[in-house]
Amino acid sequence: MNMNFNEVLKMKEKAELKTQAFINGEYTDAIDKKTFDNISPIDGKLIARIASCSEKDAEKAVKSARQAFNKGIWSQMLPEQRKSIMYNFASLIENHLFELALMETIDMGKPISDALGEIKRCAKGIRWFAEASDKVYGKVAMTRSNVSAQIIKEPYGVVAAIIPWNYPLMMAVWKFAPALATGNSVILKPAEQSPLSLIRLADLALSAGIPAGIFQVLPGYGETVGKALACHLGVDKIAFTGSTEVGKLILQYSGLSNMKAVSLECGGKCANIVFADAQNLDHVAQQAAGAIFYNSGQVCDAPTRLLIEKPIYNEFIEKVKHYSQDYAPLNPLNPSSKMGSMVSEEQMSNVLEYISIGLAEGAKLVMGGKQVNEDTGGFYIEPTIFADVKNNMRIAQEEIFGPVLSILKFETLAEAIEIANDSIYGLCTFAWTSDLNKAREISKNVRCGKILINSTSDGEWSVPHGGFKQSGFGRDKSLESMDQYVQTKLIWTEY
Ligand code: ADP
Repeated sequence: MNMNFNEVLKMKEKAELKTQAFINGEYTDAIDKKTFDNISPIDGKLIARIASCSEKDAEKAVKSARQAFNKGIWSQMLPEQRKSIMYNFASLIENHLFELALMETIDMGKPISDALGEIKRCAKGIRWFAEASDKVYGKVAMTRSNVSAQIIKEPYGVVAAIIPWNYPLMMAVWKFAPALATGNSVILKPAEQSPLSLIRLADLALSAGIPAGIFQVLPGYGETVGKALACHLGVDKIAFTGSTEVGKLILQYSGLSNMKAVSLECGGKCANIVFADAQNLDHVAQQAAGAIFYNSGQVCDAPTRLLIEKPIYNEFIEKVKHYSQDYAPLNPLNPSSKMGSMVSEEQMSNVLEYISIGLAEGAKLVMGGKQVNEDTGGFYIEPTIFADVKNNMRIAQEEIFGPVLSILKFETLAEAIEIANDSIYGLCTFAWTSDLNKAREISKNVRCGKILINSTSDGEWSVPHGGFKQSGFGRDKSLESMDQYVQTKLIWTEY
């Protein structure tokens, strides 16, 4: 989509924003009439006041979701028909591509060109899962001959998905597409920083033919409506993406209520290991910079710890610095912006705090380190690089979730593996080498859910995403994620 900055600004002025919850097929205020302020990080200004749902709204939505599920209007629909409705949904998203992308940009500050690309991918993902809905079968077990033992998969029923703010629509699709494809009713709880695109999406779902009660959206605070859903006796499954801290709370809520099934995609502190024998170090440096500064570093599987082999340490740092200059923060509504703002003032302060921690720990600041574009009223941080980081420093251990890269030096393969594993997280590890043996050793010995060799992008729908250790459990994307939304039933029949 070719457009210039002025055109985007004009479209922003004309944008119509929906601000209410979507329950049982209609937009509605929160029962208590409460709202919260939605602030744009681009300029610090109020965008809108959004319905702030409570336990009461959760109660109403769960009831509607359960009734719709029990009636079978979606769960018992011919899979082929469900598929065709999900296809309609994907097409409607494509028809509203710019509108949805604009909402994500003003809500959380990601560059409009990135948002457009992500929302296009969301439509593809919905089609991918729609297509799978009539192609995943149960099994028949080998048993004695007078028995038929069918092992079938049934939808849970009511699925609640708690969504983070870094990729509002994409993270929601990762959860609702497989949940819908397998016949569940879904309730989405957007992050309070980024509710707009998901609220708008609900209307598109209904227009596509997804029945009332099957797709609902409850904006509001995590500690109120998020907690209410996670504690609700009528919710069968909770799918969460967010911080490890809240992920642990979700497990407690499940244990204290109805033992609802839980899948968690939480934090990361991913190692990006560059060996001296990697081919085309310029390409590797460009990828390393792009992957840490994309989305202002607010990405759970961002390669935040760059491990460089000693012989190329200084040379490679210079290359990464060079390519990082492309990410000077610009107004994200400008189509040439490659890095926008941080999601919020709070997140900006957290990141600036980590930068001062890095300095106090003795890491060497080689680029950035400051808030910029303050005159806009928005929340922008320069691409920031620390070198000579030790893995026991807090900036190497804790998830910063911002445009801050920590660079470490290593001398041997064993040392690189040890550093990669020395983390409470286990989401993803990247390695660059032309030596297949090194690639195999890393793949075998690093404990994490994804290993990417000579790549920073595993963006296809056919592969699973998820972590080991305190990065969580369960998988998003791919057929594996369908398993998160069904339970196994054995039907044993003797003749
Ligand atoms: P971050 O720290 O990156 O904002 P969070 O884990 O706090 O990430 O938020 C991710 C999602 O979890 C958001 O939708 C948020 O509202 C929700 N959330 C936060 N706290 C709770 C809670 N106590 N119970 C349920 N959901 C919560």
